Amino acid sequence: MTTNPPSIDVVHFASPGRGLRAMQRAMAPRKPMTVSQWADAERRTSSKGSAIVGQWRTDRNPPLREPMDCLSARSTVQQTVLMFPIQFGKTEVAINALGYSMDHDPCPIMVCLPGEVSMGKWVGQKLNPAIDETPAMKRALTSVASRDATNTKTFKDFEGGQLWIEHAGSTQRLKSTTVRKLIVDELDEFSAALIGGDDPVEMLNGRTSAFPTTQQRLYISTPQIKGLSRIEQLWNKSDQRRYYVPCPHCGHAQPLEWGGLHWSPDGRQVWYVCRDCGAHIEEHHKTAMIAAGSWVAENPESKIRGCSCCPRSLLRRGSCCPQRRRCRCWWRRTASRSAGRNWS
Ligand SMILES: [Zn+2]
Repeated sequence: MTTNPPSIDVVHFASPGRGLRAMQRAMAPRKPMTVSQWADAERRTSSKGSAIVGQWRTDRNPPLREPMDCLSARSTVQQTVLMFPIQFGKTEVAINALGYSMDHDPCPIMVCLPGEVSMGKWVGQKLNPAIDETPAMKRALTSVASRDATNTKTFKDFEGGQLWIEHAGSTQRLKSTTVRKLIVDELDEFSAALIGGDDPVEMLNGRTSAFPTTQQRLYISTPQIKGLSRIEQLWNKSDQRRYYVPCPHCGHAQPLEWGGLHWSPDGRQVWYVCRDCGAHIEEHHKTAMIAAGSWVAENPESKIRGCSCCPRSLLRRGSCCPQRRRCRCWWRRTASRSAGRNWS
């Protein structure tokens, strides 16, 4: 490929050298890669923000693969909604999508948190440790100064793009920012209306409208109050994907639900019953089941990609299972041995 001398308007760059690097980075051919492929190759997790330290492996939590890949450069999904329980890996999806964008698909990006405190925690406990541990993310930042300056919490400049980190309390700043990728974490923590009366989701959706064909928005949250939950409202508009796993006995694919759990009278034994063949599914089956699972759309007409890993009946603690404590133990074992994280 012939590379012409870069014609760079240096007004946009801190220095001609930086502009040249940005141009070279933008023009460099990139091997097509998904977010999960990038994470498996580049992402390293820190003890500050993750229970598992070291190289990221999507295989530890297979249900995260498809949601992450919705944020890939070649994905045609423009809006992704993740209604996940706590500690399922929601924020890791966001960090991996962000790292991928910084390193592989640079563009203007905004991450929005519900408030200034949550924003500070997200930066301190999630983003900065990820940057420190992941060489590819560190390289993407144009300079150490851009990370250590007073604007660290709200702005990071990287070659080929910028990252704004905002919170819902700064409505004017939110309104003045236009990005191609938007990541919103803990949506259910947002106030019903922002200062000035704006609906948060409508206002946030508008931040990517300047990129009608390439925009990507990711909304993440643990659902809170049923009927008032914003993430549930978005998920209801989505294609409503749930994670189906095959029965090891008959192969029937089904989402795991609390109602399928059974236990002995003394509570010492817990098993799952296949909704199709009625066979007992034991704990040792689960690793293979989850690895072979897939997201199935129950409302396939929608263009919004929505993934929920917990049935609605489980959103309220103890609402469906009198021995939930034992079930949670069973569930947690599921997570630790197969999905890798707490799937509860
Ligand atoms: Zn079966």
